Amino acid sequence: MRPGLANAALIAAPLVLLCATAAGWAAASTPPGEDAGRPAEAPAMEEHPLGDLPADDPRMESYAHGNYILRVVDFLWSAGLLALIAFSGFGATLQTWAGKAARGPNQKVAMYVALVTLAMFAGSLPLAVYGGFVRERRFGFANQTFAAWLGDRGKALLVAVVLQALFFTVLYAAIRRLGRRWWLAGAGLSMVFLVMALAVAPVMIAPLFNTFEPLEDGPLRTDILAMARSQGIPAEEVYEVDASRQSSHSNAYVAGLLGTQRIVLYDTLLQQFTPREIKVVMGHEMGHYVLNHIWRFVAFLSVFVLLGFFLVDRVSRRIVEGRPALGISSLSEPASLPVLLLVLDTFLFLAGPALSTFSRIQEHQADEFGLDATRDPVAGASAFLKFGRLDLGEYHVHPWIEALLCSHPSLGSRVRFAQDYARQHGITEETPAAGTAP
Ligand SMILES: [Zn+2]
Repeated sequence: MRPGLANAALIAAPLVLLCATAAGWAAASTPPGEDAGRPAEAPAMEEHPLGDLPADDPRMESYAHGNYILRVVDFLWSAGLLALIAFSGFGATLQTWAGKAARGPNQKVAMYVALVTLAMFAGSLPLAVYGGFVRERRFGFANQTFAAWLGDRGKALLVAVVLQALFFTVLYAAIRRLGRRWWLAGAGLSMVFLVMALAVAPVMIAPLFNTFEPLEDGPLRTDILAMARSQGIPAEEVYEVDASRQSSHSNAYVAGLLGTQRIVLYDTLLQQFTPREIKVVMGHEMGHYVLNHIWRFVAFLSVFVLLGFFLVDRVSRRIVEGRPALGISSLSEPASLPVLLLVLDTFLFLAGPALSTFSRIQEHQADEFGLDATRDPVAGASAFLKFGRLDLGEYHVHPWIEALLCSHPSLGSRVRFAQDYARQHGITEETPAAGTAP
């Protein structure tokens, strides 16, 4: 959850709570265009899940380290773009264009937001192409042609334009009416908007990119739904998504709020992981669901949003009022937007370690929940080892990197936690998994 609220749409769209691995993703060598996944033979567990933790191989390190660097570069790049738009006079020019085309202040804000969103999209395209396509292809993850990838980005752009134009039109109306106290309303509006975006994302936004279907019939489905029912989760809230359309990364997540909440398993996960491993991943997601992690995260985030908007008001006012040459007469002018976003994004980036620490605590709770639900730490350790091998997430993450950047505990510490759990419960690799169908 790195980007500022300007990107609420994009936060909400692809993945709300990335689960199962720190770096995200998994690898398979399916060539693009072919029937992705569906391996010829049934997947197997990793060898000796309770044995010594393997060293990170160079490919793993190279992919994972690149991800850390990209996170920081991505922030610096977009901060640089916002600063360029704000301080070069380009923002004021865009405002003049918007003013000519619009009738009334609300339309002017909506048009300005659309223009800035397009400018940011164009400005960050080179980095997005490298990080989201070229690099993914180089590591064998991408299953899309460049045109299809670009098509997805275009759809995300349209969603962002619509949601951001709506949000900022209301926000600037609040700035015009409330004067110096606007930041309080701004923080409140942001949280309401974020909750709405999280609620509609799984039903209105995610289906623009992928197909979501109830799990395919079979013994695994029966087991998974029985597990869900035992934790009070209705069957209609467990979905499979055709994530292999975009890439071979495998994952699972919980999304939605206010009646749209659901657990989603990637088709790639269902194809590459054994039923026992899938059940532990499912148990982890059930933990997020049952422990209300999305709501708790939203509540924690709201403290930072409140503080962030207070700072945005103080710092942006100083910048705008102290530099008449920028051509922004006051904070209520839409041309102040790049300044507001620059301050808010910077604050949220600096708050990132606190937010990711909170997230790591939730992820650990979900791991514990998953092991308690399945009583299968052998499959748990195997699943985390497999995420490392296929997904190129590191087992051994430097403690500082983990503290500052990672939303999930390192895969190594998750494997070790499952191994400790096995020891404490007298479970060995030979113990038959509880609840395994005969
Ligand atoms: Zn998780």
